[in-house]
Amino acid sequence: MKGRTMYVIPFSMGPVGSLLAKVGVEITDSPYVVASMRIMTRMGKPALEEICKHDTFVRALHSVGTPASGVHEYPHWPCDPERTIILHKPETQEIASYGSGYGGNSLLGKKCFALRIGSTIAKREGWLAEHMLILGLTNPQGKKIYVAAAFPSACGKTNLAMLSPALPDWKVECVGDDIAWMRFDHEGTLRAINPESGFFGVAPGTSCDTNPNAMQTIFHNTIFTNVGTSSDDGVFWQGMENEQWEQAKFKDWLGRPWNSNMSTSPAHPNSRFCTPAAECPVMDPNWQSPEGVPISAIIFGGRRPEGVPLVYEAFNWKHGVFVGASMRSEATAAAEHKGKTIMHDPFAMRPFFGYNFGHYLQHWLDLEKVPNAKLPKIFHVNWFRKSKTGAFLWPGFGDNIRVLDWIFQRVHENKTARRYSPIGYIPDYYHNVLNLSYCYDEHGPPSNIDVNLKQLFFLDKEFWLQETDAIEKYFNDQVGNDLPVEMHHQIQELRLRLKDYHTHWRN
Ligand code: GDP
Ligand code: MN
Repeated sequence: MKGRTMYVIPFSMGPVGSLLAKVGVEITDSPYVVASMRIMTRMGKPALEEICKHDTFVRALHSVGTPASGVHEYPHWPCDPERTIILHKPETQEIASYGSGYGGNSLLGKKCFALRIGSTIAKREGWLAEHMLILGLTNPQGKKIYVAAAFPSACGKTNLAMLSPALPDWKVECVGDDIAWMRFDHEGTLRAINPESGFFGVAPGTSCDTNPNAMQTIFHNTIFTNVGTSSDDGVFWQGMENEQWEQAKFKDWLGRPWNSNMSTSPAHPNSRFCTPAAECPVMDPNWQSPEGVPISAIIFGGRRPEGVPLVYEAFNWKHGVFVGASMRSEATAAAEHKGKTIMHDPFAMRPFFGYNFGHYLQHWLDLEKVPNAKLPKIFHVNWFRKSKTGAFLWPGFGDNIRVLDWIFQRVHENKTARRYSPIGYIPDYYHNVLNLSYCYDEHGPPSNIDVNLKQLFFLDKEFWLQETDAIEKYFNDQVGNDLPVEMHHQIQELRLRLKDYHTHWRN
């Protein structure tokens, strides 16, 4: 860090002074980190004053480092990839990060503090620090609930948090798109805050078609990283080809001329926008409320091209914890492997657990014992099931409101909306409980969106028996003796239900 400016950043994760918030100080040699932390956290004087009132705070040290050669290849992005290291010390609440300027490695309030150190504090103090978005959902009758959802990275958290509903008169409002801190209050209501104050979202794929609210959010006060640029002083990435471009010329993220005939990508696949939450047109009126918003449902999900239905509901809390623990998602495999693999990513927390996963599961199971806890219902969604020809079976994005509608019905105990399956309750779609109405033309005849519900909800017994084996193996390999007995019990029960498949499961 010799010869560099040292920046000292006092910050609060969560609204300053909220009982659910925590404070920290990051020291860094990167002005990029300072500018980004100003967007992503409540930083500066109010945070410093808050720190002075506490006897502890999280200490975070960051340097972009210098390559061993001493030479920066890209002068605007010094780093030391060969020696990059990110360290966490939960006992002393310390973080040290060297060699990388990349978001999660340098904006230390986010993954390092809010999830890795945060999960250890949460365990000690009896609450939850989770990799979840939080949204408010209002139905056409004006009833409102809040839900939290855990999907692995690049599986649609930011999109769902800002969804533009395809069904009329529904409203989705955003509390957060990445992290939730949740705690049961004295009445037994699970209260959630978003510890962040901005979005650090993946740019490619974000467009007026997929996420119009995100596009409006990033018009002002936004820091872009590793995106392409346009000659009219704009930004550009894959997925933006259909926006209004009047004869603009483009450069890629490395500053090289780029046009749509080239096989290269204009933006780095992990390029980002960093923008204040307050810029988002659909922020929830309570997104900064210090007491948090009441959570009625928790959704798990991932990219599952095969076997996993659009949505199912856990039978109860214990089964829900098992559903979270069993999460898997398709990941682009490292270059040396061909194709894609289905990775285990329990609770979308695999990269972020601050402590033993077995103890984490026990912590979740123990929440059932919180006095008068109103436990949220737990669901699993999969927007990414594919047909034999490789096309998505579900339109996704704004149409995901149709699934949220069903979840809303279930939160309000509409028993006729569900049907038994061995993996959990699914929508009783034969009785039209999934609203598929398509209302493009108000003068035309009413019609439905064109989806194949049979394929979307098809359950293959062999697939699920193999899935159960894979989950059991993962638990045994990764957790071993620390696995709560309840999880073994859940595996046995699932196997029994699957073996009963033909007698119990009406199709
Ligand atoms: P996050 O990293 O979890 O916040 O995920 P994003 O919301 O940034 O989305 C990651 C990728 O998934 C983007 O390319 C999105 O376009 C895509 N995506 C998000 N929601 C859906 C959906 O409902 N259906 C499909 N097919 N793709 C989606
Ligand atoms: Mn995101």
